[in-house]
Amino acid sequence: MSLSLEGKTCLVTGGSRGIGRAIALKLADFGADVAVTYSRSADAAEEVKAEIESKGQKAKAIQADAVDLERAEEVIAEIVDDWGKIDVIVNNAGITKDNLILRMTEEQWDDVITTNLKSIFNYSKAAAKPMMRNRGGSIINISSVVGISGNAGQSNYAASKAGIIGFTKSYAKELASRNIRANVVAPGYILTDMTGELDEKVLEGIKAETPLGRAGDASEVADAVVFLSSDMSSYITGEVIRVDGGMAM
Ligand code: NDP
Repeated sequence: MSLSLEGKTCLVTGGSRGIGRAIALKLADFGADVAVTYSRSADAAEEVKAEIESKGQKAKAIQADAVDLERAEEVIAEIVDDWGKIDVIVNNAGITKDNLILRMTEEQWDDVITTNLKSIFNYSKAAAKPMMRNRGGSIINISSVVGISGNAGQSNYAASKAGIIGFTKSYAKELASRNIRANVVAPGYILTDMTGELDEKVLEGIKAETPLGRAGDASEVADAVVFLSSDMSSYITGEVIRVDGGMAM
């Protein structure tokens, strides 16, 4: 077995920026053809596509709101039609709308749960039949340490990220007999646009709570995703891998 992803076709939701972008590029480094979806950042997604192609791999940048099940089915059908199959789905698209529970609006709750959790149902469901026909596949869902430990001011986000873990384990049990694996990667504090919004004091506090004493890089999350995409992880399913500098241990 090797880490090579040659011959594999992958989809990364929310691959235009941040962790999704780093994942898409690293999957291509290991030989995969990679499609990314995005919500609004068309230029950034086209840049990711061009960078993947410059590595000699096939690429697609597809506008698709992750909350839309019908669109998820269309995206996967396009990949299967054009590339013959889908081997790996990385459900990465996600948002935050932080607030204390007393102040949280219904809209903030619904937006985060729908974008972060329903999206995972959408793409995992849409991928199941094509993966069954292909006699296997790997689904990798991006959760967060906050889904394990909770976080004041992020009850909507933490609920969505904890929900991902329960969903993934159920999916893994349902589809294991079809050789479809499903695992979770739970990042800690990673430098991206999402965390760029936090103020300096909060960031220093997060670093102090991280045994490795620093923020993570998106490429370090991508390393775990490459492993779970590859045949090197062929006997791993229903697992949660934290990539958090030890934060939640
Ligand atoms: P960013 O905000 O940097 O990027 C988010 C990505 O998701 C963008 O590509 C964005 O597309 C896409 N996206 C957002 N909403 C939708 C939607 N409705 N449909 C399709 N795509 C969408 O976030 P990060 O890279 O930091 O986070 C990526 C994932 O990692 C998220 O699930 C996040 O919860 C998780 N995570 C991040 C941590 C961190 O410290 N950064 C820690 C733990 C987990 P567009 O560019 O078009 O807006």
